[in-house]
Amino acid sequence: MTNGAQDLAPAAARQFDAIIIGAGQAGAPLAGRLDAAGMSVAIIERRLVGGTCVNTGCKPTKTMVASAYALHTARRGRDYGFTTGELSVDLPGVAERTRKVILDSRTGVEERLAGMANVQLIRGHARFDGPHAVTVAGQRLTAPRIFIDVGARASVPDLPGLHETPFLTNTEMVALDVLPDHLIVVGGSYIGLEFAQMFRRFGSAVTIIERADRLIAREDPDVSQAIREILKAEGVTVRTGARCMSFAPHEEGVAVSLDCSEGASVVTGSHVLLAIGRRPNTDDLGLAAAGVACDERGYITVDDHLQTTTPGVWALGDCNGRGAFTHTAYNDFEIVAANLLDGDDRRVSDRLPGYALFIDPPLGRVGLTEAEAVKTGRPLLCATLPMTQVGRAVEKGESNGFMKVVADAETRRILGAAILGTGGDEAIHGILDMMSADEPLDKLRWAVPIHPTVSELIPTLLQDLAPAPAREAPAGHAQRPARGWKRTLEPWRSL
Ligand SMILES: Cc1cc2nc3c(=O)[nH]c(=O)nc-3n(C[C@H](O)[C@H](O)[C@H](O)COP(=O)(O)OP(=O)(O)OC[C@H]3O[C@@H](n4cnc5c(N)ncnc54)[C@H](O)[C@@H]3O)c2cc1C
Repeated sequence: MTNGAQDLAPAAARQFDAIIIGAGQAGAPLAGRLDAAGMSVAIIERRLVGGTCVNTGCKPTKTMVASAYALHTARRGRDYGFTTGELSVDLPGVAERTRKVILDSRTGVEERLAGMANVQLIRGHARFDGPHAVTVAGQRLTAPRIFIDVGARASVPDLPGLHETPFLTNTEMVALDVLPDHLIVVGGSYIGLEFAQMFRRFGSAVTIIERADRLIAREDPDVSQAIREILKAEGVTVRTGARCMSFAPHEEGVAVSLDCSEGASVVTGSHVLLAIGRRPNTDDLGLAAAGVACDERGYITVDDHLQTTTPGVWALGDCNGRGAFTHTAYNDFEIVAANLLDGDDRRVSDRLPGYALFIDPPLGRVGLTEAEAVKTGRPLLCATLPMTQVGRAVEKGESNGFMKVVADAETRRILGAAILGTGGDEAIHGILDMMSADEPLDKLRWAVPIHPTVSELIPTLLQDLAPAPAREAPAGHAQRPARGWKRTLEPWRSL
C-alpha cells in the first residue's frame, strides 16, 4: 500500500544546468558548447534529430535538385556535343539517394550528441509547466537556463475545401517515389519554386499558383520576371494573382479554383503541394505557463540577444521570427553561446541578411533589394550585368540570368546584391564578405579575381555603377534608364 502511494506521488523533478527544446540547427550545436563548458544538459526532441533542414528541408531538397540538374543537363546533351537515348527519372532511385543523405546527416548529429559526456537526449514532446520547468515523456525537468529551438512547419490555412482534399507538404514531397502526372504547386516562393522546377525536370507537368501578382514577390520585379521566364522556358505554367483559392477532390486528383467567384478558372492536377509559408511550432509548447510572450503569428518575442520575456529563457532559430534559414538558426546559436559563455555582446541586429534560392540557375542574395534601397531615400548607385557577358557562364552553356548591385553613393558601401545565374549561390559571398567587413566598394573594384569564374565579373559590375535616379520601387526593366538595364533584358527575351 505504501509502495502504491509512493508510485502515485509525482516523481521528483530532474535538475539540469540547461534544457534545450528541439534538436535542430541551433539546439544541437548549442548542446555541444554547453557540454564543453561542463554543464549538464537535457536536449529534448519529439521527432527526428537534426530537425527540418536535415530531414525534410535543405538536405533532401538540395539532393533532389542535384538529381534534377543532372537529368536536365543530360537531356541537353546535344548542346554540349553528345547524344543520349531517351532519358527518364527513376524516382525511387532519387528517393533512395535522398534517404541516404538524410540518414547519414541525422546519424552524424545523433552520434555527436551521444558522444557528449554531459548531454542527455530525451525523446518526446516538451511542454512548459513553469518558467524554468518542462514536462516530457512523463518526467518533469527543471533548469535555470532553457533554450527553445522548436522550428516551424508548413502552414496549412483554412482555405475553402482544403481539408477535404488530399495535399502534400515539403515533408511528403521529399519522400515521394511516384511521379505526379501533374503537380500543382500552391505558392510561388522559395520552397514552391524549387519543387516546381525539380519535378518539371523529373517529367511532371507543373503549374504554379501564386496569390501575388508575381513570383517570389519579396525580390525585385526584374528578378521575379527573370525567374518566371526561366521556369516558363522549361514548360512550367505560372498563374499569378490567384487572390482566393479553393480546393476540391477531382477524378484526376485535385482541382484548385483560382478565385472564389462562380465560374472561376480551375486548374486540375494529380497532386497538389502546399508551399504557402511556415508556421512556428509554438502553439503546443505551454508558453503561457512560462510567461514567454509571442506575437499574433506565434513567433516568440525576443530581444537583440535572443532572450525571451522570461529571464533565463532564450528562443533560437525559425521560432523567433528573426530568420528562416539554417544559417540564421546556427548564427542564433553562435550569438547565444558567445554572450553566455565567452562574455561577448553579440546581437542579432548585427546580422547581414543573405540567402539563396536553389533553382537552376540559383539566385544568391545579400542585403537590400533595389526596391528596399530606394525606400531608404539614400542617394544610390546601381549596376546590372547579364550572365551572357560572364565568360564562365557562356562556356558552361548556362547564361540565363543577371547580376545586380546597389550601393550608397555617399558612403560607397554596398547595400545589396542579387546574382541570378550559374554559381550565383557561391559568387554572392564575395559581396557578402565585403559587406560584412564594412569596407567601401572600391576595395572590391581593385581585387584581382580568378579567371574564368562568375565572381570575376563582380569588379566589372562595380565599375559599371551609375547614379540611380530617385524613383518609386522599380516595376520592371521597361521603366529603367536604357543604359545597362536594357542590356540585361536580352537573354530573357531570347529564351
Ligand atoms: C523544403 C525546405 C527547404 C529548405 N531549404 C533551405 C536551404 O536550402 N537553406 C537554408 O538555409 N534553409 C532552408 N530551409 C529552412 C531550414 O530548414 C530552417 O530554417 C532550419 O531547419 C531552422 O532550424 P531550427 O533549428 O530553427 O528548427 P528545426 O531545424 O526545424 O528544428 C526544430 C526541432 O524541434 C523539434 N520540436 C518542435 N517542437 C518540439 C517540442 N515541443 N518538443 C520537442 N521537440 C520539438 C522538431 O521536431 C525539430 O526537430 C528549408 C526549409 C524547407 C521546409
